[in-house]
Amino acid sequence: MPIEIKRLCHTYLAGTAGEKAALKDIELNIEKGEFFGIIGHTGSGKSTLLQHMGGIMPPEAGTVIVDGYDFADKKQRIEGRKKVGLVFQYPEYQLFEETVAKDIAFGPKNMKLEQEEIDRRVRRAMELVGLDWERFAEKSPFELSGGEKRRAAIAGIIAMEPGYLILDEPMAGLDPAGRRAILDMLSGIRRETGCAVIMVSHSMDDIAAYSDRVAVMQDGSIIRTGTPAEIFGGEIDLEAMGLELPAASYLGNLLRSKGMDVPEIYTIDGMAEYLLGRRQGA
Ligand code: ADP
Repeated sequence: MPIEIKRLCHTYLAGTAGEKAALKDIELNIEKGEFFGIIGHTGSGKSTLLQHMGGIMPPEAGTVIVDGYDFADKKQRIEGRKKVGLVFQYPEYQLFEETVAKDIAFGPKNMKLEQEEIDRRVRRAMELVGLDWERFAEKSPFELSGGEKRRAAIAGIIAMEPGYLILDEPMAGLDPAGRRAILDMLSGIRRETGCAVIMVSHSMDDIAAYSDRVAVMQDGSIIRTGTPAEIFGGEIDLEAMGLELPAASYLGNLLRSKGMDVPEIYTIDGMAEYLLGRRQGA
């Protein structure tokens, strides 16, 4: 069953001078197993939306239903949010146990699972994020590199076996190789477990290359949902919304401005393939 959001509104500091309508009539369905990207300028409401999907904020108006659990009802929200794994920005700041294995076991332990099942989940989660059990299980999280810490933090969420993995800027602060490694890891987790990945990112290149569908937020509304081709194919003026273009779209525009006849291509891989083919054809 999917995530179904209907007419969801949220206003911060209602009735005060600082009142802010952060979500306005949000309509959104996310299917099981999708890689779903969310883009939008800072302050457009992305984090507020993620917190509603994760069951941290109850809907004050409208509905949020996850796998049939209606989040307007407190009991259902507490049950339903077990289906959702929320990874905040810089999740490694929340590592705190003596060892990596204990840290990853924290969530499953709280779920009151049998020790054997906890151990199975810790091993599986470490495998999924690419941390070798022999090498890392007994290490202190603080001995790990930045990228490894982030993997360990994500493993702690994966170990709860969510149907939906929701991440706010999971590549923030990493270099290009680190970004790619985290994205490939997320793709692998999705493939191996079948969980949906819902990701907020400012990197249009990453969103364009990895998402099945993308939602564009502006000032508390979702102004468009579509495939990367529909979102990045030139129909929407992302720059006018203060968003970057994918690097390949930007390059395409530059080449067209020099008189070159280049189709709308929005991924680096696609652009490289096109330009190589063109050179070989010339
Ligand atoms: P984004 O994740 O796209 O940057 P947010 O969901 O964080 O957007 O914020 C949406 C709007 O709500 C912004 O105008 C922000 O300033 C405001 N906002 C977010 N959190 C709070 C809060 N706790 N109190 C008051 N206003 C908030």
